[in-house]
Amino acid sequence: MNDSAKFELDNFMQGVMQRNPGEGEFHQAVREVCESLMPFVLDNRKYHDANILERITEPDRTIIYRVSWEDDKGNIQTNRAWRVQFNNSIGPYKGGLRFHPSVNQSVLKFLGFEQIFKNSLTGLPMGGAKGGANFDPKGKSDREVMRFCQSMMNELFRHIGEDTDVPAGDIGVGGREIGFLFGQFKRLANRVTGTFTGKGLTYGGSLIRTEATGYGCVYFCENMLNHAGDTLQGKSCAISGSGNVAIYCAEKAIQSGAKVLTMSDSAGTIYDQDGIDADKLAFVKDLKEVRRGRISEYVEKYKSAQYLAGKRPWGVKCDAAFPCATQNEISLEDAKVLIANGVKVVAEGANMPTELAAVHLFQESGVLFGPAKAANAGGVAVSGLEQSQNSLRLSWSREEVDERLKKIMKEIHGKCEKYGSATNGKVDYVKGANIGGFVKVADAMLAYGIV
Ligand code: NDP
Repeated sequence: MNDSAKFELDNFMQGVMQRNPGEGEFHQAVREVCESLMPFVLDNRKYHDANILERITEPDRTIIYRVSWEDDKGNIQTNRAWRVQFNNSIGPYKGGLRFHPSVNQSVLKFLGFEQIFKNSLTGLPMGGAKGGANFDPKGKSDREVMRFCQSMMNELFRHIGEDTDVPAGDIGVGGREIGFLFGQFKRLANRVTGTFTGKGLTYGGSLIRTEATGYGCVYFCENMLNHAGDTLQGKSCAISGSGNVAIYCAEKAIQSGAKVLTMSDSAGTIYDQDGIDADKLAFVKDLKEVRRGRISEYVEKYKSAQYLAGKRPWGVKCDAAFPCATQNEISLEDAKVLIANGVKVVAEGANMPTELAAVHLFQESGVLFGPAKAANAGGVAVSGLEQSQNSLRLSWSREEVDERLKKIMKEIHGKCEKYGSATNGKVDYVKGANIGGFVKVADAMLAYGIV
């Protein structure tokens, strides 16, 4: 970036920080995107003259509401929930709901902002949004989760709909929660439509949606490696997390001939030097998806594994790293260790899992770095396909959805190449994804005039 773009960026970021005080995650996400966009916008004056960056960093609206519910002991509990409807220039708002005690407005604004560009990259007509609550489903009974979801929907239902805003899952919101949320929506709205994605297969869900984010992340990683004349075959992989994204990232990595060494949760990491194979992964699926247990139980069953309490996976020597747990889980120090251990590729399954200084270091060190808005777009892409199937009142086969997912991930790679090509023949995936996602949304905003 030249000095004048840097000056403009610093000025712009000062304004963002003043308008959004105390929202560190949101500032981080905006800076990451605008490091790519500011030089592009300065070179393309139509965006600059229409103040697109100021406008695209301001949500269309944010809905904040109280959710009161009764626990199993008869106590009344109160949580706070949000829906950040960020930008609907290219389609109805679309983005997941997160249930985690760390949820606040800053986290949801960062996620909603990123979602604008990610959804645009898929090529499907979807705007950007995110929502959730500071509710912790861990340790709650099914009935407590149901009562919370129903109470939350009593307010949320008036703000969503198949042509206005279509939520989905995220951290802490899986099949069980979507069932409860959609069930209450259906009662209140008296409509059984595609207002949610990630639905169960018996009531409008799409095949491959559960697998899509993890599978898509591996497909994107393969695309990056293929472009560099390499493949995932035989590569050792460190994966963080043991939730939806991590499990299906591991599954597809194993199917691609890679050796998966680690998985984790918020308490620690398991490191299996023999590799987590399909049978061992079936144990993890049952542990996390059915029994809702802790990943540490893996080492009680498999003696080839060690448990690294309180640790993330990044100290383990690997060729490929897939952060699939949460934001800011790869620090600059972690990146230095990964690079010293010879990591070749990093593909972000989670949203903003890599701190900005670590992103810069990976790029400077020649590590292939696939940012979240490209690498994990497979989830929302198949959500978009779920919406299409709901509108058509049809269900596509597993093979058909998987083929479409592969094609979309390849096309996203193509957009990154187009907008992020560097003079040395390499691809700057961060720049490519940011500009590739921006152009379509910005052009739509220009077409609408001043709104
Ligand atoms: P899940 O709730 O299914 O799993 C989350 C995993 O990450 C769990 O293993 C959890 O451990 C761990 N985790 C969560 N918070 C923390 C934390 N603060 N520190 C360490 N570990 C943590 O969520 P998903 O797999 O759906 O989502 C994971 C990431 O992928 C998120 O960043 C999400 O935004 C992103 N994503 C998800 C998509 C989807 O389709 N589901 C789509 C695109 C992106 P524990 O059980 O101990 O909390």
